[in-house]
Amino acid sequence: MKFVSTRGQSPAATLSEALLSGAAPDGGLYMPEVLPKAELDLLNPDEPLAEFAARLLRPFFAGDELEPHLRSICEQSFDFPINLVVPNLAKPQFHALELFNGPTGAFKDFGARFLMNCFERLAGRGPLTVLVATSGDTGGAVGCAADGRKSVRTVILFPKGRVSAFQEHQLTCWGENVTAIEIEGDFDDCQRLVKAAFCNPALCAEHRLTSANSINFGRLLPQLAYVAHAALARFKATGMKPGFVVPSGNLGHGFAVLMAKAMGLPIGPIVLATNANKTLKDWHDKGRYQPRASVQTLANAMDVGNPSNFERLSALGVQPSELRVELVTDGQIRTRIKAVYETSGYVACPHTATTFEAWWRLPKDERSDRDWIALATAHPYKFADMVEPLIGREIEPTAALASILNRRTYKVRSAPELDDLAQVLEGSALMGQRHCAM
Ligand SMILES: *Cc1c(COP(=O)(O)O)cnc(C)c1O
Repeated sequence: MKFVSTRGQSPAATLSEALLSGAAPDGGLYMPEVLPKAELDLLNPDEPLAEFAARLLRPFFAGDELEPHLRSICEQSFDFPINLVVPNLAKPQFHALELFNGPTGAFKDFGARFLMNCFERLAGRGPLTVLVATSGDTGGAVGCAADGRKSVRTVILFPKGRVSAFQEHQLTCWGENVTAIEIEGDFDDCQRLVKAAFCNPALCAEHRLTSANSINFGRLLPQLAYVAHAALARFKATGMKPGFVVPSGNLGHGFAVLMAKAMGLPIGPIVLATNANKTLKDWHDKGRYQPRASVQTLANAMDVGNPSNFERLSALGVQPSELRVELVTDGQIRTRIKAVYETSGYVACPHTATTFEAWWRLPKDERSDRDWIALATAHPYKFADMVEPLIGREIEPTAALASILNRRTYKVRSAPELDDLAQVLEGSALMGQRHCAM
């Protein structure tokens, strides 16, 4: 399989090339040249996810040097549970796909570990540098997934004062091969800087830069796998295509669900839930895509004013009429977290709460005539400061999350300028000598 740029100005790439370069040289994003049709006869949702994923993803790896490793990459990436639960037994159609049982408590563990497992098999000529911008959860997941690997170092950019205390801790607590940079700016500045670095051939070559943001197609592959697995499981159980409710920031999941549907997987209606950032809502309602500065919300991993995967949605030819977009304000997030807890005892993180709220806004018959799958993207413990007062009790961390708090932290500060970033890249290449605790 070949991968082509959404902007059409770059040569076709192999999967490995697409993973290693992150964005395409023309600034676009890689897409499969031809979307493979899912072979539904061969896909069995009763199979363990790792096996299922290897079968589903086979066409994307066809002919690539990673093809022989696909099975082991899946086994090493899907080695903690994903649960499809019914949060409220009085609403048996509504399922939450819990993607937060990984080491950093958010779904990004899957993409990050999948990519790192690919990178490790591709490093060959000496260390790769993974450059990643984060609005909260990506950086922690990528740092954790890179921690201790010899052939991959990671540089994480995060916006000063825009991530929770726990998120900051888990961005900054990894070993010598992971550098966290606090950028004086917002997430869009971080993302712009990463894009600028990738457009600089000298920097790319010197550091063998690669990306782990959701612009990297490799992040989307595991998302595609568990979405397909859950969709087939509910389809097999009910004979109806389940709907999906997707909390959306950079639209990684949104794109993965749309791609799965385009591949022929049994997926019904799609609802994208956003926080108060209204770029997507405006596109949906007014038919015009107008990027904006991001605004800060409680669901901060979705604070995105210019969703990077929108370009892939366009390339897929997605029309506003093919989905719904529901915008959920901070006030509505709070109210929903409280209501969900009071009626069912289920504790939702603020991102997951946007999906519960979006589902409740659907007409009653649409809600009850089929199964729905909401993506539960983060463990509520990561947002304990805001969630606990709403539900009136403490939230227990998972063992993995608790162990993160015992680690020492280290960060570097930088202005949102490419020159400054280049200096840090130079410096962190020497990180072995400079690492110290704060
Ligand atoms: C990143 C993130 C999102 C947004 O996902 P996208 O794929 O970027 O749309 C939602 N929830 C949580 C907890 C996240 O970390």
